[in-house]
Amino acid sequence: MTQSRIIVVGAGIGGLTAGALLAKRGYQVRVFDQAIVPGGCASTFKRRGFTFDVGATQVAGLEPGGIHQRIFSELGVELPKATYCDPACAVYLPGESEPISVWRDPERWKAERSRQFPGSERFWQLMAVLFRASWAFQGRDPVLPPRNFWDLSQLIKALRLDTLTTVPFTLMTVGDALRLFGLGQDNRLKKFLDLQLKLYSQVDADETALLYAATALGVSQSPQGLFHLEGSMQVLSDRLVEALEKYGGQLLMRHTVKEINLDSRGASSVVVYSQKTGEIWTETADNIVANVPVQNLTKMLVFQGMQESLGQKLYRQRVAKLPPASGAFVVYLGVKQSAIPAHCPPHLQFLYDWDGEIGENNSLFVSVSRPGDGRAPEGMATITASSFTDTEIWSNCEDYLALKERYASEAIARLGQYFHLTPETIVYREAATPSTFTRYTGRDRGIVGGVGQRIPTFGPFGFATRTPVPHLWLVGDSTHPGEGTAGVSYSALTAVRQIQSFKF
Ligand SMILES: Cc1cc2nc3c(=O)[nH]c(=O)nc-3n(C[C@H](O)[C@H](O)[C@H](O)COP(=O)(O)OP(=O)(O)OC[C@H]3O[C@@H](n4cnc5c(N)ncnc54)[C@H](O)[C@@H]3O)c2cc1C
Repeated sequence: MTQSRIIVVGAGIGGLTAGALLAKRGYQVRVFDQAIVPGGCASTFKRRGFTFDVGATQVAGLEPGGIHQRIFSELGVELPKATYCDPACAVYLPGESEPISVWRDPERWKAERSRQFPGSERFWQLMAVLFRASWAFQGRDPVLPPRNFWDLSQLIKALRLDTLTTVPFTLMTVGDALRLFGLGQDNRLKKFLDLQLKLYSQVDADETALLYAATALGVSQSPQGLFHLEGSMQVLSDRLVEALEKYGGQLLMRHTVKEINLDSRGASSVVVYSQKTGEIWTETADNIVANVPVQNLTKMLVFQGMQESLGQKLYRQRVAKLPPASGAFVVYLGVKQSAIPAHCPPHLQFLYDWDGEIGENNSLFVSVSRPGDGRAPEGMATITASSFTDTEIWSNCEDYLALKERYASEAIARLGQYFHLTPETIVYREAATPSTFTRYTGRDRGIVGGVGQRIPTFGPFGFATRTPVPHLWLVGDSTHPGEGTAGVSYSALTAVRQIQSFKF
């Protein structure tokens, strides 16, 4: 058993998964997180008997063979109880009273999309072929993008004949595929894809890499699926903390890592600030795993008496040139059950055609609690509605509180078109802006959801878990395969395997 010391910066799902797996595999692990509760964007907060999921509300990868299931099985902890989201989402386009329901049953979804988007089946068939090949490839744990011979060997091992079918599509976007099938002018289909893809890839159909989109859209159908956790999203991190501690790892909350020090050997220590005692100290480690956005990482590096290498300089420049990432504006409502229409799906997406301040793409993604799912007292429910927003608006505004109030009122007015929202049915309301996300998750400018799955930043061209600094690893939604609790768990597993492959 190795006694190599690992420091993990951040107890998001990525950091906790990496920490727990490393502890299980015999490493001495210490996880530092600047927040009060672990889980980052997938944590929760409680107000007046309601439990609100901060960001993530749906979980992929809990099915047999799914990434969370595999990792929980290795860790020997119970998989959180969950139910399928079926439909995964009900999408309302402007002026339409009937939603496009993304059903879990593949045949039912096929019938739905044929009805909703006549003439598009060849496009969906291509997506299905690419999904099957990409999913099977990812399930064989490739290391993407490869940065050394070991990484390359893992990538090659994961290749099969069917993986080669995806290769010609590597440089295509969803927009390219739509044009290929003569669907470039199908505005309704385009709107639907823009809405769904923005959730998963940060960008619209014209920019999203086709192979990424095939995976993101295909995962909602059986035998995979999206899940709604019983209790709250916090259960996921609680179980990972349980595993970390079971194998001797330590989690220190309210401890901010101010700097990551690099010497001639690579990453060697971190400077930690305890918010509890005010103490600041330097802690050394053999490996440092950073569970922060890549934009945070480059700002944390401190070169101790040595020059930045060319590779490190290019990495920093690449990060600086990334297109601006979006932030999130989220409204959390605790409501009486009477506010929720009968047969309300648990997840909805609304696109609006009326102008207002809110949202980069004029839409809201909404998650509604289910009776008895642990989020609301009896006879009550929670509604969480999020939209993407430009982070600059919030850092440069003159009256932050007034802006926040305007956004919240507008979001509630929009939600009021579907839900029965009145002063009597709204029991509690709160909102989060990019400034809130900066404060509670430490994320640079409150950006959410990774670097965007455009061609230059997805899969083979994305950010690797192996950084150009020896002994420094990056896990989380900036790295392959991208955002979401399932995505960041893959990146954690990759970094753990890479650390293990290293001979001390
Ligand atoms: C509104 C919203 C809705 C979403 N919906 C979904 C969804 O339905 N399903 C889904 O799968 N995903 C969803 N996501 C995305 C998902 O939540 C994230 O991709 C994922 O949780 C990110 O995990 P992570 O481990 O990369 O990092 P994070 O969650 O960002 O965690 C990073 C952790 O590091 C800590 N930290 C940061 N800096 C420091 C420092 N200097 N020192 C110490 N600690 C530090 C933070 O406190 C935090 O706990 C959503 C995100 C948002 C914002």
